[in-house]
Amino acid sequence: MKKKIIFYPFLFALYPILGLYSRNLTEIPPMETVRPIFFSLLFTALFFGLFKLLLKDRERAAFLACFIVFFYSASELAYRVIEGYLFKGLSESSHRVILIAATLMLLFLSSRAVWDKYMTAARRAVFLNYLNLVSVIVVLFPLFNIASFWIKAADDAPQPWSSYIGRDDPAAKLSATARPDIYYVILDGYGRADVLDALYAYDNSPFLNALAERGFFIGERSRANYLRTSLSITSALNMDYVNFTADLAGADSVNRIPMFELAGNNRARRLLEEAGYAFVLVDSGSAFTRFYDADVFLTPFRTRPTLFEMWFYSTTALNALYEPELQITPALLEIFPLAGYSAHREFILSAFDQLAAAPKLPGPKFVFAHIIAPHPPFVLGAEGNPLRPNYPYVTGDGASFVANVEAYKQGYIGQVEYLNRRVLDFVDAILKNSETPPVIIIQGDHGPGLLFMLNGDNLNTCLWERASILNAYYFPEGGTGLLYPSISPVNSFRAAFNAYFGTDFAMLDDRTWFSLFDVPYDFTEITDQARDPCAPPQ
Ligand SMILES: [Zn+2]
Repeated sequence: MKKKIIFYPFLFALYPILGLYSRNLTEIPPMETVRPIFFSLLFTALFFGLFKLLLKDRERAAFLACFIVFFYSASELAYRVIEGYLFKGLSESSHRVILIAATLMLLFLSSRAVWDKYMTAARRAVFLNYLNLVSVIVVLFPLFNIASFWIKAADDAPQPWSSYIGRDDPAAKLSATARPDIYYVILDGYGRADVLDALYAYDNSPFLNALAERGFFIGERSRANYLRTSLSITSALNMDYVNFTADLAGADSVNRIPMFELAGNNRARRLLEEAGYAFVLVDSGSAFTRFYDADVFLTPFRTRPTLFEMWFYSTTALNALYEPELQITPALLEIFPLAGYSAHREFILSAFDQLAAAPKLPGPKFVFAHIIAPHPPFVLGAEGNPLRPNYPYVTGDGASFVANVEAYKQGYIGQVEYLNRRVLDFVDAILKNSETPPVIIIQGDHGPGLLFMLNGDNLNTCLWERASILNAYYFPEGGTGLLYPSISPVNSFRAAFNAYFGTDFAMLDDRTWFSLFDVPYDFTEITDQARDPCAPPQ
């Protein structure tokens, strides 16, 4: 009898990865799926081979291998469904019980006793055909989503988008004798002092005074150029507005993927690299600012997992092993960190450690850190105590933040208080240990999102909160002359390069643009609206 082809275990193994990717198409570069796909297929093949040897029955072996890999790849989802809908408040250790129960059930269902009793030769054939067919249908759904996204994206302008930057003054070259190290630190969502005062009843002047005492210039009327992280950071690093992306992608485009390249190959970095600088990236866990091709990539996790992998691990059976009381947890976390509150906190803490230690790295260097705080989720209390929000891990702010006004205010200010201490610590360490006085820029990419949370992040809401940012510059030896109270991020590197590298960049008008999260390139200018202060929410 001719052997039937068995392929369903491999397609089922692909499904959890393709499904996760198809739900995050606009955020995740497709290459990030390659490694997890490879390992899933490899595990399936290994289990299939092993069970074939043990059971001497390829159909039972395929069945067992398929459902072991499939279930272990998605068991956190099964646990969430059981915990969320069937038995509310089930403890996390029950994930382990579910795993053991499911494993025993699969062993039973694939046992010889069961198959001898119920699976005649004819039934075996039907069963195999059926599973092969179902596996094809199952992967078609995410594949359809993925294909339609990329067919639409094919209309976008040719990449790389970074080649559109600086076309007007391509001759710009940095030259300097002192060659100071440059630190650019983004504290995501860190708002301006008057916003914290008016909406959060928090007086941030002790922190700003402490910075000023150390020689910082504070942009007391600074506003972001864009209210979305990816646009704001891309524009600041490229020293220019990025509204040309609307022409490249179309204003209705949802595809952020070409922006990854535009952010990574930014103009500030290119100019500094041409001038002999090393680019040092402090990894933040944000997919958008993990520039893997940095000369030095500082990350808390040894295996340098991509964010997609961390998301994937967190849907798997690995989650059942992450109870703090288990001995194996810390070692496992270093190799397979899950996207979750612990990893999020680890990224923040490690970023501050890395910044404080950075002066020891060989220079001259451009050190870039994008720290996802005080932006939600709120994982650190004012004393640096770990917090664990009691809902599944999400990083959303504004309209996609899950909480009430009090929780947002408290969580946000708690994180600000802790950050303030850590910022002063690393600033002191950098100032003390740098041979040449360094340039330090500390900036919010946009403000907080309390009113966005209450009213939706759209144009009809008060935009003042989200637009007003912390903006602090340490320009040593009289370099602050080019700075002014309303300077915006698009001009940060123009000012720095003019002050220390003999360039003659024009300072751009400080303007602010709005676009919705889902259609990032559909820009509306809001420079005037963003000036109107908001009343605190009732
Ligand atoms: Zn942000």
